[in-house]
Amino acid sequence: MTETTVKTRFAPSPSGEMHLGNARTALFNYLYAGAQGGTFVLRIEDTDAERCRPEHAQALLRDLRWLGLDWQEGPQAGGSQGPYFQAQRSAIYADFYQRLQDSGAVYPCFCSDTQLKLARKAQRAAGRPPRYPGTCAQLAPEEVARRMAAGARPTLRFRVPRDTRIDFLDLVRGPQSFNSDDIGDFIVRRSDATPAFFFSNAVDDALMGVTHVLRGEDHLTNTPRQLLLLQALGLPAPTYGHLSLLVGEDGSPLSKRHGSQSVRQLRETGYLPAALLNYLARLGHSYGDEAYAGRERLAAEFSLARLGRAPARFDPAQLRHWQKEAVAAATERELVDWCLERLGAPPEGCDEHRLGPLVGLVRDNIEMPQDVAAWARRLCGAQVPPAGEAERAALCAAGSEFFATALQLAAPASTFGAFAKDVGTRTGRKGKALYMPLRIALSGVMHGPEMGRIWEWLGAQRRDARLRAALEQCRQAEAAC
Ligand code: GLU
Repeated sequence: MTETTVKTRFAPSPSGEMHLGNARTALFNYLYAGAQGGTFVLRIEDTDAERCRPEHAQALLRDLRWLGLDWQEGPQAGGSQGPYFQAQRSAIYADFYQRLQDSGAVYPCFCSDTQLKLARKAQRAAGRPPRYPGTCAQLAPEEVARRMAAGARPTLRFRVPRDTRIDFLDLVRGPQSFNSDDIGDFIVRRSDATPAFFFSNAVDDALMGVTHVLRGEDHLTNTPRQLLLLQALGLPAPTYGHLSLLVGEDGSPLSKRHGSQSVRQLRETGYLPAALLNYLARLGHSYGDEAYAGRERLAAEFSLARLGRAPARFDPAQLRHWQKEAVAAATERELVDWCLERLGAPPEGCDEHRLGPLVGLVRDNIEMPQDVAAWARRLCGAQVPPAGEAERAALCAAGSEFFATALQLAAPASTFGAFAKDVGTRTGRKGKALYMPLRIALSGVMHGPEMGRIWEWLGAQRRDARLRAALEQCRQAEAAC
């Protein structure tokens, strides 16, 4: 007995930027192949020359590489069933069109767009679903020849068999059943001779040996058509699973309106690939726990049985949560590269040399490279002004005497703990009244890394300079009232 190994694929149409919905589809196919020790194929569905652009295809490859969703067959990877750009597969398709023509499974259709539009309108007005009325289904061969000779360029339509049930088991939605009478004869080749989606998508899955297709729910009603087509060609069909849609807070399909960004925009904002992967892997799929996982664990624990049917809601707060987790899990080197790439250069006041230790110091307090830049401004210079009015007020409330004492005690203190203790004893302050003014004087803000580490980082000179500046500020404030 031969066991078929799992082969999944991601088959994007390069008509725009990659969005989270696409990225999730790619990820699920990648993870399923990974979980099953199978193969993940990338195929670019660029048959619609008007909508597809080579630069979008290149951007897709780049986004997938950035996410780490590497494919074993496809553009840049090779494989025995190429080419993997559908626009380059016309010769392969020609053979299958011929087979369909020979068996009478397709017929040329000369209906114009206007005719089709009118037919649809009439059907709707009569309360019937719009469907191809079969105008050209029975044209005599002589009539076809006459129109062709006159220069007409017909589409090719698939003749859907009447009154046939099409049943299949959807990997996500369970048993599905369609009646062929609800499906109108559909176009498999456009009038410009390019293949229509139903055709090239199904034929390529068969030729490329794809065993499992996970794709958006919007394709569910395409599946019975594709099954009929594959049957007519005697080609094997993959098992399909239709993933629930990604929706925004209001339940409508996810769009920019909901704050959703393209993968490129998210990358440029500073999101880490691991954040997106952890987030997307849980949109419509559940893991046993909510712990951050590397690509391997995400794949190992991915299971079709854990795919949900309910629409998956996009939540930017969750994405930020996974970003924090991804920052926490990244190595110092990775975070340095991330900063350099996104900021274009080491942040002001911090050379490349110091960037590693700086990132190590503030990693619990950052989400994006811009946050590192803000910490560099606070911690790398000789001085730091209080960040805002609240910080200034808290600093001045401590008073000049407090800082004069602190300044005296700073130099002899060996650690921040010892220093704070001495200041507390001498000034009688404790808790927040003791620690907050010191934190603001030394770092400019009320929250951040442990004070002991900030103390070490700054070194004696900068500590002194900052405490002196705080003292000066308090004096001026006191003189003013
Ligand atoms: N090119 C199609 C799309 O981007 C592929 C659909 C499928 O996965 O079968 O929607």
